[in-house]
Amino acid sequence: MITPRPNPATFIDEAAIAALLAPEKPPEPQRVRELLAKARHLDGLAADEVATLAAVEEPALLEELFDAARQVKEDIYGNRLVLFAPLYISNHCHNECSYCAFRARNDSLTRRKLSLAEIAAETRALIDQGHKRVLLVAGEAGAPKDVDDVLQAIDTISRTRSGRSEIRRVNVNIAPLETKDFRRLLAARIGTYQLFQETYHRATYASVHLGGRKRDYDWRLTVMDRAMEAGVEDVGIGVLFGLYDWRFELLAMMQHIRHLEEVFGVGPHTISVPRLEPATGSRLAHHPPHAVSDADFYKIIALLRLAVPYTGIIMSTRETAQVRRETFALGVSQISAGSRTDPGGYTGASETRHRAQFQLGDHRSLDEIIRDLATLGYVPSFCTACYRLGRTGADFMDLAKPGLIKRHCGPNALSSLAEYLADYASSRTRQAWEPLTEGVLRGMDSTARATSRRLLARVQAHERDVFV
Ligand code: SAM
Ligand code: SF4
Repeated sequence: MITPRPNPATFIDEAAIAALLAPEKPPEPQRVRELLAKARHLDGLAADEVATLAAVEEPALLEELFDAARQVKEDIYGNRLVLFAPLYISNHCHNECSYCAFRARNDSLTRRKLSLAEIAAETRALIDQGHKRVLLVAGEAGAPKDVDDVLQAIDTISRTRSGRSEIRRVNVNIAPLETKDFRRLLAARIGTYQLFQETYHRATYASVHLGGRKRDYDWRLTVMDRAMEAGVEDVGIGVLFGLYDWRFELLAMMQHIRHLEEVFGVGPHTISVPRLEPATGSRLAHHPPHAVSDADFYKIIALLRLAVPYTGIIMSTRETAQVRRETFALGVSQISAGSRTDPGGYTGASETRHRAQFQLGDHRSLDEIIRDLATLGYVPSFCTACYRLGRTGADFMDLAKPGLIKRHCGPNALSSLAEYLADYASSRTRQAWEPLTEGVLRGMDSTARATSRRLLARVQAHERDVFV
C-alpha cells in the first residue's frame, strides 16, 4: 500500500546534510575500513557512512575505497556494460536553465522539432548502427502538447523497423509530468523514466533556473513520486555535477533514494552522473561554479557503487573516452555510444553544432566503442529482457539481490552481442571479438554457460532477439 507523500521539504534536509559534512578532521582509517568491509558485503551504506567515506583523501585509503567499489561492481554486474543512444526529438524549450544551450533566450541556437517521419528516420539510423535501446530526450515546450508529442514519438520509434531489427526499449528523459500523464506514458510501455534534479540545493537551484516551469524546485523534486504512483517502476535520478558542492549533492541523493524506498519499497533503477559541459550561449556551462575534478568524479562513482550496489550507474558521452574507461571498473553499468545531442543529428548534415545541447567528450562510433571494450575486457550488452519479461522495480531487485539476475544477464549480454557482431559490426570489430567469446563463457557458472551456449546457437542459426 502506498503511504501518503511527505512534504518534500522534509525528505531533503539541508541542515542534516550540513551536520554530516561539518567534521573537519579526516576520518579514522579504522572506521573507513569498517565501512568498506560492510559495503563489500553488498549491504549498501547510510548517508552518514557515505559522508565519512566522502572525506577520505589519504591516497592509500582512497585506493582501498576504489578497490571495494571495483569488487562490488564485479560481484553484481560482472564485466557487462549495457549500451544505448539518446534520441533528441526537439530542442525547443520554455525554460531558462542558465547552463543549457536549449534555454529559451539563447538566440545562437537553431531550433528544430522533428516530424514523426524524421523521428522514424533517426530511429532507422540508430537501428542500422546496431542500437536496441534509445533514450528519448526533449526540451520542455509546454504541457499537454509535450505529452502528446512524446507519446507519438514513442509509438513511432517502437513501430520503426530496419532490416531485421528494431529498437526494443525506449527510456525517456522529459520534463516532469502529472500522475495522469505518467499513466499514459506507462500505457505506451516506456522503459525507465529519467529526470535529473540538477541540484538538490534550493538556493543554487533558484539561482540557475531563471524562467519557465522548471523554476519550481518542489515540482521537480516530487516527480518520481508521481511517476511511481502512476505505476512507472523503473525511474532514473541524477545530479548535474558542477553546479554545487558534490558532497552535498551525493548526500541529498541518498535522502531522495531513501525516501523512494520508504514510500514505494524500491529505490531508483538508475543514477546518472552528468558533469557540466560547455554549451553554446552559456557562460555558466563554460565556468562551472563547483567544477568537479576527475579525481573527485571517480570518487563519486565509487561511493555510489558502494552506497546503492544494485542501482545502475549511467555514463554518457559527455565524458572523454579515457575518463569513461576509468569509471567502468568503479561502478558504471550503462553507457551511451555514438551519441548526438542535436535533433536530427543521426541523419543530418555534419554542421549541427548550433542545434546541440552541449559539447561531447567521446565522439567515437558505436562500432569503435565495442572494439575498445574487447581490449578492455568488458562485454557490451544490448539486452532488453528484464523490462520485456516484467522484471522491473521491486521484482527486478528481488532477483538482483540474491545474485540470481546474473544467470540471465550474462547469457543475454552475449547473445545480444553475437547478434550485433553478425549484423552490424565492421570486420575489425568482429575479428577483435572472435577469440574472446570462449573466455567469456568460461567465466560463467555452469548453468549460465549452458543457457548461453543454447542462445548463441540460436543466433548462429539466424534467429534474432533471443533472451531468457
Ligand atoms: N528538458 C528536460 C529537463 O531539463 O529535465 C529533459 C531533457 S534535458 C535536455 C537533459 C539533461 O541535460 C538535463 O537534465 C541536464 O542535466 C543536462 N544538461 C543540460 N545542460 C547541460 C550541460 N551544459 N552539460 C551537461 N549536461 C547538461
Ligand atoms: Fe530546457 Fe531541459 Fe535545457 Fe533546461 S535543461 S533549458 S529544461 S532542455
